[in-house]
Order: sequence, then structure tokens, then C-alpha cells
Amino acid sequence: MTEAVTDIVIVGGGPVGLSLALALRDSGRKVTVLEARAKAPVTDARAIVLAHGSRLILERLGVWASLAAQTTPITTIHVSQRGHLGRTLLNAADLDVPAMGYTVSYEDLHAALAGQAIEAGVEVRYEAPVTEAKPGRVIYRQGNATADLPADLVVLAEGGRGLPLPEVVEKDYGQSAVVCWAQTERPHAGRAYERFTPDGPMALLPMGSHYALVWTTPTEQVADRLALPEADFLVALYAAFGERQGRFVAAGARTAFPLRMALRGPGDQAGLIRIGNAAQLLHPVAGQGFNLGLRDAWQLAECVLDAPPGPLDGANLLSSYVRGRGADVSAGARMTDFLVDVFAQDPPVIASLRGAALTALDLLTPLKKGFARKMMHGARTW
Ligand SMILES: Cc1cc2nc3c(=O)[nH]c(=O)nc-3n(C[C@H](O)[C@H](O)[C@H](O)COP(=O)(O)OP(=O)(O)OC[C@H]3O[C@@H](n4cnc5c(N)ncnc54)[C@H](O)[C@@H]3O)c2cc1C
Repeated sequence: MTEAVTDIVIVGGGPVGLSLALALRDSGRKVTVLEARAKAPVTDARAIVLAHGSRLILERLGVWASLAAQTTPITTIHVSQRGHLGRTLLNAADLDVPAMGYTVSYEDLHAALAGQAIEAGVEVRYEAPVTEAKPGRVIYRQGNATADLPADLVVLAEGGRGLPLPEVVEKDYGQSAVVCWAQTERPHAGRAYERFTPDGPMALLPMGSHYALVWTTPTEQVADRLALPEADFLVALYAAFGERQGRFVAAGARTAFPLRMALRGPGDQAGLIRIGNAAQLLHPVAGQGFNLGLRDAWQLAECVLDAPPGPLDGANLLSSYVRGRGADVSAGARMTDFLVDVFAQDPPVIASLRGAALTALDLLTPLKKGFARKMMHGARTW
């Protein structure tokens, strides 16, 4: 069945696709979101740190008001490396912002966006997996039938999964992130930790009354780490993280996410643009993925809003979008990959250099502020 032409079809109603749909609600364009999942609360164990800049965008999307109560502000970030000297403390107060970022569960973030989409009258079709997407149309399943939806602009926001994909720059880190909540003896007081270990980075993110743990684990050890009895897991966690928060006293159910980098980019076909994880899938070490994806969505919406009335010109849209996003995305991807690589190496000389760099970052206030601003707002702040 071929349907009537829509202006914009967004493939994927995840956090990035829904953000784009919300940013386009006053564009006067007909927007349709096709989502493979059923219309039900999403189950996903990961925690997301929203940068301060993302909070500002979510405020403008009308989402922050309902989301704020589910977020936990991060007022300090402590960065260190296991077994070596050198550490830096990044403080919200030094940067004149209320928080360095805000931890929220993927589930709460998704629920707030989906709720706002309903309120704004965004058309989201659930259980509508797209099987083919090309400039000008997408083909998707509706129960046992296949539907063909023509559109001036097709936006892929499906997270880089579920569609036949073009070639990508890909790097398998040979690691997975083991995630769960964890309770420490001492309260978190808004302090997040990023700790680099020879096996990969681990992060403790304040979330509600406990921490959200992201523990990078070599792939061959993941099954064992997931299967450890809780008491043994807590001991292993303490051994890897150290004593800064006292002992670990409880932890929730564990899940693992394989970690790799896939840089597909926005694409080069007029009328088809990839955003969010569909364009760049990154290691979570620097907490960039959703923050970059949200800026993708915001920028693309601006390009559409700036377009002259009438049918959208796909070639113009693509070039103005790429001009606006290229630097931020490639800086985010480079920094993330650099952090994973440089902290994975353990020769003493490299560890000492890293320690010196962390200490220098701690002492050189302008450098520290520049680094923190980049984490909060993206490359355009440099
Ligand atoms: C452990 C971990 C921690 C992270 N921490 C952070 C962090 O602190 N900060 C941060 O900014 N980012 C973080 N990220 C990254 C962040 O989760 C992603 O960047 C973000 O979820 C991307 O959103 P998205 O909407 O592009 O893709 P997704 O979240 O993958 O959503 C894609 C949507 O598309 C749908 N879909 C898929 N295929 C199809 C299809 N064929 N047809 C229709 N619909 C389809 C899916 O059902 C889904 O709803 C983390 C990631 C991990 C794994």
C-alpha cells in the first residue's frame, strides 16, 4: 500500500528521533515517526548523563519540566587513574553553572520525550519497523502488511540497528559496559567519578540515592562479571574503584552493552540524513552519544525551519546540516576514542604522562574550564 506523501519521516522513535519530532512541531511540516517497538514503557538499564547544554535544549523542547525531578545533578566530577598518581576535579561552581550535568535513566528520558510527543500531537506509529529507507520513501511493516511511505525528507534515527547499513568506520574495543545501580557506604553528594583502569574506564554517576555504575569490562570477562554473586561483585568493584566512597554495600541487576565505534556520518544522498547513533555510535566513556545526537536533532530542525516554504530541497538541507554539525561530531568522536586509547595503555611512562596531564588540567584553570565547557556544550564552544 502506498500512502500519501508526508514532508518528513523519522525512522526510530528513540530519544534522538523523538527530540527531532518535538523540535519540528511548529515547523508547519507534516512529520511522521516510525518506531519498531510497541507503544509501552521502554526497558533499558543504561543511565545517561545529560550535559548542561542538553538541559537547555530539553527546556526548549518542553521536556525538562517533567524530566527534572527524575534527574540527579552532578556538581563535581573526579577523574583519576587506578594505580597511578594524578587526578583532576571539575566543579560546577568554577564554571558558573548549576551542575556539570544531570544523570537520568534512559527509561525516564524516553518516557518524558514520549509523553511530550503525545501532548504536542506528534504522530508516532508504533510496531512499524522500517525494512528499507532511501531518498524519497521508506518501506515498513504494519502487522502482516507492507506499507510504502513517500516523504520529501527521510531521517534515520534508528540507532544504527535494524536496517541494511552502508560501510562504516568501525572499531571494536573488545569491551562491554557492565551497568547496574550501586550503593556506597558514603552518600554521593552530587559527585561523579571517572576512573581509568587498565581494563578500561569505569564511571560512578550519582543517580537518586545511589550510583549508576558503568564498568568497562574486557569482552571475555563479561559473562563472569555478570554471573558473580552480589557479595563477590561488590568486593571486585571495591578493588577496582578504591575506597573514596567507602565500601560498596549493594548493587542491582547487571546488564552488559558491547562497546564499539561506528562512524557512518550524516550520509551523502540528498533527501536522506542520519542523526544520533545512526550517524555516530561511540564508546560511552565521555558521555557524548545522546548529547551529540540531541544537538544533531536541534541543528536539523533549525535547517528545516530556515528552509523556504514549499517542498524541502534535500540537497540544500543536507549541505547546511553538514556545515553545522561536522566539527562538533568529529571532535566528540575523536576525543572519545582518544580517551579510550590513551587510558588503556599501561607502560609506566605513559601512566606518568597521563598523571601529569591530569594534574596540569587540575592546576591550569583556563584549560580545565575549556575542557569542561566542551564536555557540556560540544566543540562549538572552543
Ligand atoms: C552503557 C551506556 C552508557 C551511555 N551513557 C551515555 C551518557 O552518559 N551520555 C550520553 O550522551 N550518551 C550515553 N550513551 C549513548 C546513548 O545511549 C545513545 O547515544 C542514545 O541512546 C542514542 O539515541 P538514538 O535515539 O540515536 O538511538 P537509540 O537509543 O538506539 O534508539 C533508536 C530507536 O530506533 C528504533 N528502531 C531501530 N531500528 C528500527 C527500524 N528498522 N524501524 C523503526 N524503528 C527502529 C529502536 O527501537 C529505538 O527506539 C550511553 C550508551 C551506553 C551503551
